[in-house]
This record gives sequence, structure tokens and C-alpha cells, in this order.
Amino acid sequence: MTEVLLGKSLPELTDWVQQQGQPSYRGKQLYQWLYQKGARSLLDITVFPKQWREQNQEQEIGRSHIDYYNTAPDGTRKYLLKLKDGLIVETVGIPTAKRLTVCVSSQVGCAMACDFCATGKEGFTRNLKAHEIIDQILTVQEDFNQRVSNVVFMGMGEPLLNLPEVVKAIQSINQDVGIGARNLTVSTVGLPRKILDLAEHKLQITFAVSLHASNQKLRQSLIPSAVHYPLSQLLNDCKEYVNITGRRVTFEYVLLAGVNDLPEHAHELARQIRGFQTHVNLIPYNPISEADYQRPSPERIKQFTQILEQQKIAVSVRYSRGLEADAACGQLRSNKSRVNT
Ligand code: SF4
Repeated sequence: MTEVLLGKSLPELTDWVQQQGQPSYRGKQLYQWLYQKGARSLLDITVFPKQWREQNQEQEIGRSHIDYYNTAPDGTRKYLLKLKDGLIVETVGIPTAKRLTVCVSSQVGCAMACDFCATGKEGFTRNLKAHEIIDQILTVQEDFNQRVSNVVFMGMGEPLLNLPEVVKAIQSINQDVGIGARNLTVSTVGLPRKILDLAEHKLQITFAVSLHASNQKLRQSLIPSAVHYPLSQLLNDCKEYVNITGRRVTFEYVLLAGVNDLPEHAHELARQIRGFQTHVNLIPYNPISEADYQRPSPERIKQFTQILEQQKIAVSVRYSRGLEADAACGQLRSNKSRVNT
């Protein structure tokens, strides 16, 4: 891939303009146009000399194009972004009264093959580069004409399988796009050694681990890769993550009717995570056509929540936004590609 400008820091852009024979102050101008003014080509940067812009108009900035989007009644907007190589990646913008959250993808597809997930059914294509992750945030910011306040790595892909580019993107989103590290959340199903690899970067981000099950056998049936990563080891690594970073770990738990949402599962989950300073996010399932799982009833969700609360575990229920508009992970991309074929 040729050198791409998005994702470079101010000193790196300053070096780059100087290599092109331009004065160093043009580095700051380029930086502002890339991260604040939405430049998609050097031609857009009108403060640069016209002749130089035209000579370098083929220089890749690193921006995608919106191939398709739809908006749910609650304002959630889902995008399919076309990358330079023609591949499509999914991004979601989720507005609330005070926030604009972007759910970003870290890979095209996903190799983890979680049984309940639309992306997992489609397989893995490739890792995203850091600039392709940053671009998702800028695209949503420009489309909503509003600053993005929060970013969650909960779209397509397993972020820890693309750790170098994800860490690079996080550092740029924090320093160049200007979003506070604590407003950036990385979510993983967990891979041996990878949680500790992430911990070594000592990022002050929010870290979420998708448990989805209260015991190893059930977890393996939902997340095939869990066979190589016993729940006890995963939880030990989470404790080590807290020791290294000084940050809490949040646990995510997708509630699947009749599968992992029974009272005994709630009691077992509470036993497993006892002693953690944690928060559990319960996510009632968004059904997809490729899998038979169903969303639990409101009564069952309430019962599960109450059992955790009785065990003094901080818990909240997070409904996927925009249920009407392909809200589940990877669902828009798989449905749209079916429409197109
Ligand atoms: S739930 Fe996440 S990790 Fe599992 S297959 Fe889907 S995208 Fe991959």
C-alpha cells in the first residue's frame, strides 16, 4: 500500500511536507485539514499552493466512500463504507441527547465464528489498517455534522487479532481526532496472551470482555475459539489486566433465550466474577436470520438483572439501538450484500 496520510501525527506530517519540498508550517495546515476539515484529497486543501496540489493530487489521504446507509427511527445510522480495494466495512453512528457514539469495525469480517453473530457467519477477509478505522469516525462525524464523543470497537472483527493497527488507531483517535481515552472502548471475546499484550500498552481506555456464558462448556458452544482459552484463564488474565493498567474490566453478556439466561446462569456468573471491581452489561439478543437464537422475555431479563444486583454486582441492560434497521453486528453488511446479489 502506498503511504497514506491519515493516521500520521503532527510531527510525521511535518516531516512528510518537508520531504515534499514544502515549509514545515504546512505540516500543521495538513494536520488540521485531515482531522478537522475533512479533506479527502490534497486538491481540497485550498491553503496549499495550487500547482503543488495539482502535482500531488494522486497522493492517498486514506478516506473511504459511503456506499450505502440507512437511518432507524431512533436516529441510529448504519453505514457501509467502500474501502480503496473495494471491500465493504460496516460502521454505526449512535446519537443520544448528549453524545454521538461510533461503533467501529476493526476487520473486514471476523474469524471468531461466534454462533449467534452475523459477521461470524461470513468469515474473515482482512485486517483494517489504522487509517481505515480512523476514517470511520471522521465519516460519522462529518455526516452528523457533530463531534463524535465516544468510540466502541464493537463492530465487525476481533480487535485483539489486529492489535498493532488497533493500538495505532486508538492513539491517533485520542491525540489527533481529540477523543478522550476513557471514551474509547475496546471489546474482545478474549484470546490467549492477547489481553496481556493489550495491557502492556497501558492505554487508559475502557476495556470490555464478552463472556456471554457462565461456564466453560456453555461458552465453547457459543464461541468456538473459547476451546483454546479456559474461562478460568480468561478471568485470571482480566485480573492481570487490572493490575497492569489500573483500569476496570467490564463484562459483556449477550442474553439468549433459554440458552444462557436462566436463574442458575445468573448465580453461576455472579460466582465466577466475584471479587472483580466490575460492571456487567447485559445485551438482550437481536435475532438474525442465520441463527435460531431468540431474545429473552422482559421478565427473564429483569430476573437475571435482579439476581446479579442481589449479589452486589453492578449491572446494566443495553439494548442494541436501531433494532428495526439491521442493528446486530454485521447484519447490515450481510443483508445488503444479499440484496445486491
Ligand atoms: S461477535 Fe464479535 S468476535 Fe464474535 S464473530 Fe461476531 S464480530 Fe467476531
